[in-house]
Amino acid sequence: MTKPTLLQRLPLGQQADTLARLEQDFDVIQLWQADDQDAALAACKDRVVAVVTGPSTPTPAELIDKLPQLKAICSFGVGYDHIDVDHAHKKGIQVSNTPDVLNDCVADLTWGLILATARHISHAERYVRAGQWGNGPRLPLATKVSGKKLGILGLGRIGREIAERARGFKMDVRYHSRRAHQDAGWPYEPSLLELARWADFMVVATVGGPTTRHLVNQAVIEALGPKGVLINISRGSVIDETALVHALENGQLGAAGLDVFEAEPKVPDSLKHLDNVVLLPHIGSATVETRWAMVDLVLRNALAFAQTGQVLTPILN
Ligand code: NAP
Repeated sequence: MTKPTLLQRLPLGQQADTLARLEQDFDVIQLWQADDQDAALAACKDRVVAVVTGPSTPTPAELIDKLPQLKAICSFGVGYDHIDVDHAHKKGIQVSNTPDVLNDCVADLTWGLILATARHISHAERYVRAGQWGNGPRLPLATKVSGKKLGILGLGRIGREIAERARGFKMDVRYHSRRAHQDAGWPYEPSLLELARWADFMVVATVGGPTTRHLVNQAVIEALGPKGVLINISRGSVIDETALVHALENGQLGAAGLDVFEAEPKVPDSLKHLDNVVLLPHIGSATVETRWAMVDLVLRNALAFAQTGQVLTPILN
């Protein structure tokens, strides 16, 4: 019996193992290996029923419309702002992501950013490497973390893990999202502006995409204030990056720790020149253990779709 066709748009994990697992149930087209990807897509478009994709290979409505038999999109990563999910759902196409398996690592990295930013860890390390210890100007004193007030924008799966870890730092936690979550265990703040006024540290952990674009605007940044620390592990689009740079340069915001940017992999040069900023290349989930778990979940979603007609972790909105 002929197997259904799966279009794999990016390599995943140990690709030989990935391919062997997918080939149990699919005829796999490894699109990224084609010299002419447009021609390769045109040759298989009428028989593709499932797509494996990720943030580096966006799936807009135009691509979905090119695949008349498409029934499932299985994406690597929990964010889905690179996929036109509404359009897929209107056409009866299931979309899956890889939730939960990355919560711990993204929350761990968030705390790394909080500490690195507040305690000047990156700046201090540059100081040692540059031979300035004992020779140069003294490092400025840093900001204490323990016992401070932590505001979280988006108390979802990752946001909750970040909040849990704050217990060890004896911090007071509040959160803002579109609605209060009765089971949260931390106070809800209905106004993002008020959350920013209250907080010493604010972590952005909401979803990306058009609904949250520039939610953290100039007013929110200024409300956090000259001693405030802003951390973003969500998506660059949630913060108005121009307003952020301006506030950091002018002392209207104390410091920022950023794992994500508006136009990745481009990072504004002005940020690179500031010592009160810690910059990471979107590595929230980038550990051997978690990346393996994410690949495994993408494959399990695709195989479950082949075997039962349903992906395991569908995006429901
Ligand atoms: P999640 O469980 O869906 O949580 C997202 C939270 O955002 C929800 O609690 C939701 O709460 C809130 N939210 C949604 N729209 C909002 C809005 N318009 N205003 C305010 N809050 C809003 O997602 P997750 O698994 O925690 O992941 C969160 C995000 O982290 C992902 O979407 C992804 O972009 C990012 N991420 C980054 C990395 C990295 O490497 N840096 C790794 C993994 C994930 P309400 O429904 O109550 O509004």
